[in-house]
Amino acid sequence: MIHPFVSGNKFRKLKYNLKEAQKTGAQTLLTFGGAYSNHIAATAAAAKENGLHSIGVVRGEELQCRWHDNPTLQFAVRQGMQLHFVTRHAYRTKTRPQFLAELENRFGPFYHIPEGGSNTLAVKGCEEILTDADAVFDVICCCTGTGTTFAGIVNSAKTTQRLIGFPALKGDFLREDIRKFANNGDWELQTDFHFGGYAKVDEALIHFINDFKRKTDIPLDAVYTGKMFYGIMRLIEDDFFPENTKILAIHTGGLQGIAGMNALLKKKGLPQIDI
Ligand SMILES: *Cc1c(COP(=O)(O)O)cnc(C)c1O
Repeated sequence: MIHPFVSGNKFRKLKYNLKEAQKTGAQTLLTFGGAYSNHIAATAAAAKENGLHSIGVVRGEELQCRWHDNPTLQFAVRQGMQLHFVTRHAYRTKTRPQFLAELENRFGPFYHIPEGGSNTLAVKGCEEILTDADAVFDVICCCTGTGTTFAGIVNSAKTTQRLIGFPALKGDFLREDIRKFANNGDWELQTDFHFGGYAKVDEALIHFINDFKRKTDIPLDAVYTGKMFYGIMRLIEDDFFPENTKILAIHTGGLQGIAGMNALLKKKGLPQIDI
């Protein structure tokens, strides 16, 4: 709800990066993402709004001739983003200085925003998500990809609040990444609700998302927020939280990804997310 296109936590992660880019006189933002990346869509919209040029380096060379079918990439191009498709192999080298230097040779100088918008300035922006009014909550729940947003929450929460991250990915690297950005170790992860890994879904999750929307009028995406809310409801059913616990669940956005997810679900013959 924070912005029509720069959705949820991506707005927070971009805020100080945009300021820094303008301070350094950059005219171009360059960033990285997958085919359905919320961050690619958000960066494209934010760049346009701030009068900056934007380049999206996209994982998957095969998308070169298929991006017209992809709602996220289509949106990015409409915002004026220039897309550059690279192989999965090249994409893996995206943090290497040599790869970045090659991109600079090709496109000229740019302000580099890492994949997912995740850096120290992004954490700073995410430290502004909680307000004084949120001090009444006992538990704060947040979905995590790179963990940058969660680190911002950890840094700005009250010491009495219990902080629970819900990883949307499988794997243990996340704890280390959160530790890099968080100023204390008083937090936990619920690792049972990733549904097999990043962007993996099953029918139960889609049904949950549709049911949740019918009951609450709150739309959820299948990559991040749907998995977190599924997890929270399961934990409540299992009496994980003491009675009368006040839980704050942070909806991090991501709704632009529903159209792309629905196209994939349709192809697989699975039920789709109601919109
Ligand atoms: C990118 C994204 C996340 C993950 O944020 P991190 O800071 O990388 O952990 C969570 N939810 C949504 C909707 C996102 O788009």
